[in-house]
Amino acid sequence: MRVESVRGMRDILPEEAWVWQAVEEMLRQVFALYGYEEIRLPVVERAELFSRGVGETTEVVHKEMYVFPDRKGLELALRPEATASVVRAYLEHGLYAKGGVTKLYYLGPMFRYEKPQMGRQRQFHQYGVEALGSLDPALDAEVMALAWHLMEALELRGEHLLFRVNSIGCREDRPKYREALRSYFAPHAAGLCPDCQRRLEENPLRILDCKEPACRELAGAAPRATDHLCPGCKEHFGQVLSFLDALGLVYVEDPTLVRGLDYYTRTVFELASRELGAQDALLGGGRYDDLAELLGGAPTPGVGFAGGMERLILVLTGQGVGAQERPLLDVYVVPIGGEAKRPAVELLTRLRKAGLAADMDYVGRSLRKMMEIAGKRARYALILGPDELVRDQATVKNLATGESQTFSLAEVPERLRGLAERSC
Ligand SMILES: [Zn+2]
Ligand SMILES: [Zn+2]
Repeated sequence: MRVESVRGMRDILPEEAWVWQAVEEMLRQVFALYGYEEIRLPVVERAELFSRGVGETTEVVHKEMYVFPDRKGLELALRPEATASVVRAYLEHGLYAKGGVTKLYYLGPMFRYEKPQMGRQRQFHQYGVEALGSLDPALDAEVMALAWHLMEALELRGEHLLFRVNSIGCREDRPKYREALRSYFAPHAAGLCPDCQRRLEENPLRILDCKEPACRELAGAAPRATDHLCPGCKEHFGQVLSFLDALGLVYVEDPTLVRGLDYYTRTVFELASRELGAQDALLGGGRYDDLAELLGGAPTPGVGFAGGMERLILVLTGQGVGAQERPLLDVYVVPIGGEAKRPAVELLTRLRKAGLAADMDYVGRSLRKMMEIAGKRARYALILGPDELVRDQATVKNLATGESQTFSLAEVPERLRGLAERSC
């Protein structure tokens, strides 16, 4: 039997991969505008990193994480998200020693054992940023402005974007809020889904994440975190909103927004496309001022966000963005007859050294077939026939216009470069 890929682990084929490259390139450029540098993290971590950082009672850790022992019995996990890893690396390598705010971004695969569906795979890809080392509410707003900027740079029109924002307070506020939620939900316990009945005891905040319609309806009228904030958190949230106003970012306050991970404190947000409907966030994030301590490090405030590449690419393709032509080869070399093979091979090398993307046929296709391939894959065909060869020449055919020109073999790379640059 033929070996096939694992359910939920999808190949990204060349016809799609170039769109990913273009989007990744754009993301990197915008991250750099805000002073972020890339960090590349392992996909395998100790499972403990996530049970402590993300939280034992979260869906992600409780139900969706890939956990397995290595050959010596060490409990490992495929990372379900990257924030905990970024903070681990920050602490492990003493990145705080430089002082100020450390700004890091990442791109890469994450793993969650969920039911695979359109735009959501078990191996999925995230882009994200983390800014570590400051409590300043202006930084929360800057991170959100960066998220907005990304979507605009990707030509997702601004009028369709909307932030949902909330503050879930600090660890001093949390027990009071949990109690308020518990006493609100307790009389309705029978109407909650079985998972939420468990959550009611363990962590009633997680009921607010539940997607079951009955639970959602009850959550709609639940006590608001913003009514249980200490003066410091209230002040912080007010400032975040005033910076958002100053930056002209469109937002609504959403008291049911808590995000599915335990490490969040104070500001939480999601950026949604209004066209996709309220449930479909493009990215989400917030502050996590206690995460470093949860991982055994010194107190380090942080704020960031992560978004899904699959979802982003789905939206972009849906809007017709990124539908521009897949990049072509500059030139496809077409040798006619065995005599032409050797000069063709030499010419290919010279073309590539001159910075031109070039290829030729290696499976003995006919002239007609080679020209057909050239028409699909390249901007120019470079024909080396017996007539050309006796004169040390090659015919260059513009495959868009059908025009042909003849050049001497010696000057072909330079001439082609001139043509290629002019028609870019
Ligand atoms: Zn507080
Ligand atoms: Zn529920």
